[in-house]
Amino acid sequence: MLRVLNANKSFGGIKAVNRFSMDLKDSLITGLVGPNGSGKTTLFHLITGFYEPDSGEVYFDDQPIHGLPAHKISQKGLVRNFQHSRVLPFLTVRDNLLASCPHQLGEKILPVFFLPSKIRAQEAKNSQKADEVLNMLKLDHLADQPAGRLSYGQQKLLELGRVLMADPRLILLDEPTAGVNPSLTRQIVELIRELTQKGVRFFMVEHNMPLVAELCPRLLVMDAGELIFDGSPKEAMKDPKVVEAYLGK
Ligand code: ADP
Repeated sequence: MLRVLNANKSFGGIKAVNRFSMDLKDSLITGLVGPNGSGKTTLFHLITGFYEPDSGEVYFDDQPIHGLPAHKISQKGLVRNFQHSRVLPFLTVRDNLLASCPHQLGEKILPVFFLPSKIRAQEAKNSQKADEVLNMLKLDHLADQPAGRLSYGQQKLLELGRVLMADPRLILLDEPTAGVNPSLTRQIVELIRELTQKGVRFFMVEHNMPLVAELCPRLLVMDAGELIFDGSPKEAMKDPKVVEAYLGK
């Protein structure tokens, strides 16, 4: 599904991502951990088109995506969330979802005149999809509230809902439960599990190790820009390289 081959990205003299290769195959939920500054965010930026690699290749469903702009990559079904929620606080919860629908005909001037019935059909479809997502997030009762009134955890949930509006097949999650209370964390965990049943795959950075152990059958560990481990979370905790990366050399 997602393959990275020998990717490199430096900032000045710092090799943020260094000869990094991985193949997610069909792993349902893959975790990514590593000490601060080990290159996780830079890797996410490289995969999702926010940065271009200095060298190396990225493939999604066997098609090269390195060098493509971020919006083209998300149109292919590879979508990310952000560590800090990016909901639009003055729009309602429902409108936040509707605003994330890709390819909206009504945004272009010509279809407004020549394809009005097509626009209406698309809007009805998007509205139905927003209802489904609201239901899945259990935020239906807040659909007409401005998103800025939601709690921090609910905003993180809505951010995930915005990602779902884009019909993702693989979601890159950056700390989906950071700062979220335990009951909403459970809800996010259940939602991730439910989505895997529907065929969605996840690649996630998460610092909460018990949660990683619970959710991710497969874990990748980075240190100083390199992949130093690929296996189960249980094995990772006993791996000398991983222990050394966390405890210092
Ligand atoms: P992580 O997400 O694992 O904390 P990052 O990918 O943010 O790691 O950072 C990896 C390294 O690259 C760090 O040394 C960081 O300081 C450096 N770095 C990341 N982004 C930039 C940037 N835009 N400019 C300069 N250095 C950067």
